[in-house]
This record gives sequence, structure tokens and C-alpha cells, in this order.
Amino acid sequence: MTTELPVAEVALNLATGRGFDYQIPAELRGKVVPGSRVTVPFRGQPRSGYVIRLKATSRFQLESISALEDPMRQIPAPLLRLGDWICDYYCASHEAVIWNLLPAVVRKGEMQHREALYLDLTEKGQNLGSEEFARLTPKRQTVLRTFIRLGGSLPAKEALGAVDAGASVIEALVEDGWLQKTRRVQERDPFTNLKVVPDQPKTLTKSQQDALAAVTAEMDEPKPKPVLLFGVTGSGKTEVFLQAIAHCREQGKDAIVLVPEISLTPQTVTRFRARFGDQVSVLHSGLSDGQRFDEWTKINSGRAHIAIGARSALFAPFRKLGLIVVDEEHESTYKQDTVPHYNARDVAVVRGALEHCAVLLGSATPSLESYHNCQVGKYRLVEMPQRVEAQPLPPIELVDMHQDSAHLKDERKASFFSRRLEELIHDRLARKEQIIVFLNRRGFSTQLTCPQCGYTASCGDCSVTYTYHRKAEKLKCHLCGAEMDAPRKCPQCGSPEIRYGGFGTERVEAVTRACFPEAMVARMDSDTMTNAESYRKVLEAFGKRKIDILIGTQMIAKGLDFPNVTLVGIIQADIGLNVPDFRSAERTFDLITQVAGRAGRGDSPGRVIVQTCTPGNYALTCAQRQDFKDFYAQETPARETLGFPPFTHLVLLHFKSPDEERTAAAANRFMEVLQPLLRSSVQVIGPMPAPIAKIAKFYRYQILLRAADVRGIVAAIRSAMMQVSPAELRRVPIDIDVDPRYLQ
Ligand code: ADP
Ligand code: ZN
Ligand code: ZN
Repeated sequence: MTTELPVAEVALNLATGRGFDYQIPAELRGKVVPGSRVTVPFRGQPRSGYVIRLKATSRFQLESISALEDPMRQIPAPLLRLGDWICDYYCASHEAVIWNLLPAVVRKGEMQHREALYLDLTEKGQNLGSEEFARLTPKRQTVLRTFIRLGGSLPAKEALGAVDAGASVIEALVEDGWLQKTRRVQERDPFTNLKVVPDQPKTLTKSQQDALAAVTAEMDEPKPKPVLLFGVTGSGKTEVFLQAIAHCREQGKDAIVLVPEISLTPQTVTRFRARFGDQVSVLHSGLSDGQRFDEWTKINSGRAHIAIGARSALFAPFRKLGLIVVDEEHESTYKQDTVPHYNARDVAVVRGALEHCAVLLGSATPSLESYHNCQVGKYRLVEMPQRVEAQPLPPIELVDMHQDSAHLKDERKASFFSRRLEELIHDRLARKEQIIVFLNRRGFSTQLTCPQCGYTASCGDCSVTYTYHRKAEKLKCHLCGAEMDAPRKCPQCGSPEIRYGGFGTERVEAVTRACFPEAMVARMDSDTMTNAESYRKVLEAFGKRKIDILIGTQMIAKGLDFPNVTLVGIIQADIGLNVPDFRSAERTFDLITQVAGRAGRGDSPGRVIVQTCTPGNYALTCAQRQDFKDFYAQETPARETLGFPPFTHLVLLHFKSPDEERTAAAANRFMEVLQPLLRSSVQVIGPMPAPIAKIAKFYRYQILLRAADVRGIVAAIRSAMMQVSPAELRRVPIDIDVDPRYLQ
């Protein structure tokens, strides 16, 4: 029996990157298993850790495990293997990964359930036919009948009111063994703010039926293949998710639904709760510790069967998983930007393979990786090319801002609104329809320069310019968050003629208010939306048509479903195209498609204006035609020639320290060690300064590695790390990012 092995390797939260061996004392043999949480002595102090694996022997002189802790806090078995996979693939330590598998509040074990006293019928109490029952006073009989009617159990606090009898009657029934008192868990409900109206499954359209059939067919396979549901915005993907989950529940299995952004969760949660009620559990960072603890325990104890949430919901401890849904699978928020840098979409596919459960990826703009996986037969593709009830996709017009120069003479509006967009806004306002204006940059102006001496205001700690925020009268660094008062004159030469260039949402808001004084205007970006509540409030006001024009960044790009929005304006659509990253075209295509999808979801047709200075760019022209396949056809040959994903895998190493020379030296030394360990097929770019060479006083160097297969690279990196001294690794830490989303 492997569980009888005498040595356990334990991960302690010490940032050492390795486990420590301990003897398992005889009385705990067979009880300590991988995933167990144990107390061990470490340098004379008791510490808690998780057992990674059991071993027959150890090279070391061992101390013994001192205690096995609360089984509630152990890592559920299905997650252990998944954790191992994450360690291997993402080149992370068990230590780092294990701490991601359980919510901190569960690990720490400080949180308690909130308990309440319940009154339950005893077995004797359930038997109303007995002779003994017949001998009870009528009052007592009525109380017991009421308990039966209400399901046999009531919180003690509510019992008195519910049964319409005095406390003495209840006490007597308890004393005589008809009722009993039990303390039980009472959950803190994270849904108190949600108005949930139960709903019924909708009658599916033909393409929804086909999509559902494909998913359920996979679910019934012993080894399901992941399904990519490529459906245009508004094609009814969510309804397919809901009915696939219903199928899963009919088989007695559980489901996980991943959504990209926490802010989207309330709307999604409402739809799932409306269909599945109390079986739905939410896991996301907006919960209080108590709520998260309760939601997790609800899943772990089998009282919840559907978990919805951002990234971390993937680790919901279900034992009989039937389906994992990944909504908006192309989203970069699925990638964790701290260690381990896992991509929840990809790990979902792995969890599906390990637990033989179906995986359903949904998107209107699939990632090229997932679409490529369909082309090579790894995933199954299903398409929903039309909106429900066949509302047309909104026509998209590209407006060339160079051509619109007549308009530019009006300084007030210069480069904000083209003539076309301005006309349409007036038109929609007159018809009391709503408008979304999108710009992927916040702040008032993005560059502050002095024409006299050439000074540019930039963050001293990062290699970026400051953004001017007018309301706060501050210059802010969007990388490190540093702020300073906005200067009245040039800090370098004293000239009062400071020039503000470039613009963000704050400026667009000001211009909009000036140009359309009759309109109610609101702005939604991370400066105005400081918490989930402010987000909810603005969306509610928008839903009630108390806002005419909603201006915003990425935050408003996705998921919003407001039928009265008939115009979407995209300002400076080329911002993203100028970013030096191989995914810049893909991101621009996605963003425009997603933002455009907010228009015309109701009965009135929508319209989209895209303002650009590069109207010929294929990312824009394909987005204009809403033609993902053409975009894929134009984008992939270049990726293939240049050796980028989906044709290769990338591994990005970052070296960071406050000393530039030391950082460069560490990167170079590491490369010398690594080079001989790499296969000749691995391409190396660097070491070189990262595109953002400095963030928050830390200089950054990078090495980019690429090959068809990641495993060889990761193995080489692991060996190379063993040859670098721990002291060196502490001085200049190495951040390893497998399949990076951004190359900066
Ligand atoms: P997507 O997730 O693809 O953007 P949704 O699932 O949000 O699309 O569907 C868009 C709208 O159509 C929603 O308001 C939804 O309630 C509605 N809808 C979806 N499927 C149906 C259907 N079969 N019959 C009627 N309405 C539907
Ligand atoms: Zn900074
Ligand atoms: Zn100056």
C-alpha cells in the first residue's frame, strides 16, 4: 500500500521552492496521504504544510510529523493531480501551486461556520400514526404536524412564530423525544443583493440545438473532447451553457463555469441562479472571507453542484465533475499574472482530461490557439453564426480620421468625434436611444511636454510617461501607481507653456458633456469604478435609461446586454495596434468585435462607428465585416513564418532587481548555464532589456525561448536553476512565464 510509506515530503510556505521530508509516526501511517495538512517541526518551531507525496526512504536524518490537521483543510484528491500538472507544465514549485488550490480562508482554518440552533423532528416525531402520538394533547399534535408540513426542520428562532405555540410546548416535545435540538451550519448568502426571478429553459434555436447536441454527445463519451462554441455576440451561448449544465445535473454530476471578470459575475450569477437556484455557488475575489469560506464548504460538502467564478473557481473541489464551461475563452484575464502563471482555460482542458469530464469553451472571437486546436482535431468546433431571433449584427463603419480633417478645424472636438459619429449621437439622443463610447485608455491626457526645453513628464521609477488626471489634478503612473501634483509650469525650465497631448476617457467625458449638453453622461473606468458596488449602480442606472451616453474602457467592452443601445462609437481604434506584441492585431480584432456586439441587441437595429488613422489594417477590416475566419486566415501565415503561437510555445523569463547592471549580469549568467541544456530546436531571443525596461524601481531583463514543445524548455530551465546558487536567485529572482499573454 502506497499510503503505508513511512516518509512524507511536505511543502511549507517558505518560498524555498522545495519540499521537506518528514517521518510519518506509526500511529499516523495510512492516515497521512498526499494532500493532507500536517503540523511539522521546522527549525524548532511548529509549522503547517501540505504533504506533496509519500516516499519509501529519504536521504536525510528525519524529524517526525507532529500532527495531522483538520481533514476539512486538506487538498481534495482530484485537485492534487491537477496541481502536479500545473507544477510540471508551468515550471512552478509545489509550494507555489498548492497555495493556489485552496482559498486562503480555508487553508488558514481560522474561519468558522456560522451555526444556528435548529429544531428537527426525531424518528419518533415523524411517525404521526403511532398510538403514542394519538395520546398527545391536541396542541402538541398540531405543532408536530406543522413541522412535518414545513419539511421536518426549523431554525429555533423561527420555530415559535411558525408553529403558533408557546415555548413550553416545544420544550416539552423536546423533553419527551419528539423534537431534538441540533446546531448546524447556516450559510452566509452572497446573493442578498441579487433579485432572482426563477426562469425556465428556453426553446432552443436550430443552431443552439446543434451546439447542445454536440456538447451532450461529448459528455456521454468516456473521454470527452473539448468543444469550442464559436458563436457571434448575442447568439445565445449562455442558454446553451445552461442547458448543457442541466444535462450534467440529470446525470448527477457537477459543473464549473468560469467567467473572465469578477465584474461580469453578478449578471451571470443571476442567470444561473434563476435556473438552478440554491445549487449555485460563487467563488470570486469580491466575496468576504466568511462568504468565500461558506461557498467553498458548500461545494466541498456536496451541498452545491454548480460553481461560478473567475479563475480560482476552476479549483472547486467537486468529486463528480461532468462539465467545465469557460465563457469568453480568449480572455487574457484567465492567465494569472502572479506565480504560478497558469492559464485557467488551458488548465480547465487538463482538468477535463484528468477527470474525464466535458469542457465547453465559448467565444465570439476565439483565441487563435483554440481555433487552431479545432483545425488540427484536438477540439470539436460548433458554430452559431447568427443572433437569436436573427437580429442582424450591427453594421460597422470605419471612419478615417485623416479624411475627416474639415471637422478638425473645430478645436473643441478635434480628433474626438468624427462628423459621422457626432451626427449619429445627436440622432440617437433625439430618439431616446442609448450610446456607448469606447476608448481603451484612461486619464485626461497621456502626455505632458514642454515645447521650450523638450521636457516630458515621466515616472522616475518606471520607464513610462505620466498620465494627467484632471479631476484629481495629479500626474499618475499607470504602472506603479505613483502620483504627483500636476505642475503649473515646466519643472525643468520654468516655462508656463506646458502642452497636454494624447487623451483618455476623462477627456472624452469632458468633451462629450460640452458637445452634448442635453445628454446624461457617465464614465466607467478603473478611476471612477472603485468597487463592485459602484459598477453595479452605474449599470443599473444605464439599464433604467437614466444615462444616455456611457463612456468607458475595457470595462464596458464585454458582456453588457442592454437592448436600447443602438450606437457604439470606438475612439482611436488603433491604440492597441501600435503595441509591439505579436498579439496586437488579434487583441484589436477581439476588442472591436466585442464592443460592437453591445449594439443592436434589442428590436432597434444598432450601428457602430470605428474611428481610426489606419483604416486599411486587416484587423480593422476583418472586424468591420465581423469575419473571424478571414482574420484567422490572414493572421496565421505570419505567425507561422515568424514562429509564434499557435505554431510554437513561448517561455518568457524575467529578471528583476533595483540594480540595472546586476540584473543584466544575472540574465547573462543564467543564459550561459541554460544554453548547453537546450535542444538545438529551441530559439532564444535575448537576454535583453524588457520592452518596459523598468517598473517600480526594478530594472527588467528578459529571455524569450520558443519551440514546438514546452516540456524540453521547462526541463532545461529546472536543471539550470539547480546550478544557480539560492543566494543569487534571491538577489535577482527569475520569473518564469510559460505561454505568456504579453511579451513586455
Ligand atoms: P451570448 O452569450 O451568445 O452573447 P446570450 O446567451 O446572452 O448570448 O443571448 C442573447 C439574448 O438572447 C439573451 O437575452 C437571451 O436571454 C436570449 N436568448 C438566448 N437563447 C434564446 C432562445 N432560444 N429563445 C429566446 N431567447 C433567447
Ligand atoms: Zn511608475
Ligand atoms: Zn521646459
